[in-house]
Amino acid sequence: MRPASSDTWRIAGWPRVRNGSADESGHADYECVKICYNTQVFDQGPRSLSLLRQELGHVATGEQSGLLPRWLRPPIPLNHSKRIAILGATGSIGQSTLAVLRHASQATDSALAENGRFRLFGISGHENLADLAAAAREFQPDFVVCSNPESNSHWSESCPEFSGRFETGADALVALASHPHVDVVVAAIVGRAGLESTMAAIESGKLVALANKETLVVAGHLATDLATKTDARILPVDSEHSAIFQCLHSGCGREIRRVILTASGGPFRTWTAEQQRNVTPEQARAHPTWKMGAKISIDSATMMNKALELIEAKWLFGLEPEQLEVVVHPESIVHSMVEFVDGSILAQCSPPDMKLPIQAALDYPNRFDSPASRLDFSSSFGLNFEPPDMDRFPALLVGLEVASRGGSCGVVLNAANEVAVQAFLERRIRFSEIVPVCRKVLDSHPFEPYPDLKSILELDCWARLESCQCISSY
Ligand code: NAD
Ligand code: MG
Repeated sequence: MRPASSDTWRIAGWPRVRNGSADESGHADYECVKICYNTQVFDQGPRSLSLLRQELGHVATGEQSGLLPRWLRPPIPLNHSKRIAILGATGSIGQSTLAVLRHASQATDSALAENGRFRLFGISGHENLADLAAAAREFQPDFVVCSNPESNSHWSESCPEFSGRFETGADALVALASHPHVDVVVAAIVGRAGLESTMAAIESGKLVALANKETLVVAGHLATDLATKTDARILPVDSEHSAIFQCLHSGCGREIRRVILTASGGPFRTWTAEQQRNVTPEQARAHPTWKMGAKISIDSATMMNKALELIEAKWLFGLEPEQLEVVVHPESIVHSMVEFVDGSILAQCSPPDMKLPIQAALDYPNRFDSPASRLDFSSSFGLNFEPPDMDRFPALLVGLEVASRGGSCGVVLNAANEVAVQAFLERRIRFSEIVPVCRKVLDSHPFEPYPDLKSILELDCWARLESCQCISSY
């Protein structure tokens, strides 16, 4: 199977980060290298740079590695099934993750036989015990957590046949996230409520498939510092960040000019500011291209979701705020783009379906057949791009400012937004008042450049109280 010319070898799996300098002694510079010839995987595993050079003649783009953050490296391959914990298994991302695992367990193709190594070790949910019980019956995990302590007494009625470990409360979430038998934690709890468990997973050195963008918004500096110390991986589930991550494989850190996050524009993309005043929660929840939980749907309608994603991208990819841009793309097919210094722009495209970015994170750097829908070129369709209107969607300006200022701005913005979104859902404020509440609380907060976790939690409480007061004055 070895090709005649070493030039035809390809290293896949992006062995981005060199481990050290000891390649002459045979130590692995790359923790995980997948060596391919055309579509065939020849070898996989830790390799030294000098051995790779001897074997392959040259080391493709691997030598440019080391410029992306450590937490984006491929994980060390396991010799057993990947044991997965889904935090927030009853939500939209949690259910899509279950669909990916279901597909992987049922598929018979050889790539999946190789990759059919997922085992659902644990799940959590907060309120919907029926969905939690259904997942427990189907996947028979070892550990089920109901994070809402009040639902304790109902579990045995909901799932009498479950014989594994069942616990309730926030501490149980942390216990699941850091459990020694868990390899991959899918962080799919919505909002600030996901912070402690996501941080616990990072602290325990897990591979974190991160949907809970709020963790990076609130504590991006702490999460990334911690991941560097514990060797945890943080891989994106958010579709834009997954797209950027996939595009980044064509270059390296210093070759990136900018990343361009696409935004659908939400249900009110073409509405005037005046029209947006009387929007109802039902209208705001009806996203034109994605089916998501309530909070992120409202965030998409105000475009605060894109604001949070700018901050998420800054931390995840170690980018300067000036390298971040947003373009409105109503079809949600181009999930984001990366422009390199030579002017080349790479994009990742697929129909809007979260199953694809979820499985990209679960099995990175591998790819396997997906239950996600495919683009169909048998009929014509168009792709449109337009600049965002910052006047009608001021949340974007707030996001850019918070990405630039950093420090305590993220936690304050996130808390104010969560409170304002909830108030809107309960019809206590207008849709058009959500962003002004965030702006007011952000402007009045005591800025801290590098808050520790204790300060973050205090600022979160402070900002929630301030937001409530602000809302009561409307
Ligand atoms: P969702 O509302 O559908 O589900 C949220 C999950 O979190 C549920 O399992 C719920 O039981 C749990 N939860 C709620 N409150 C909790 C609490 N206080 N403590 C512990 N658990 C709690 O939300 P979603 O749309 O799946 O979004 C989840 C996360 O993924 C969010 O951070 C969101 O921004 C992100 N995300 C979602 C999508 C999407 O398509 N839905 C896309 C990209 C990113
Ligand atoms: Mg997104």
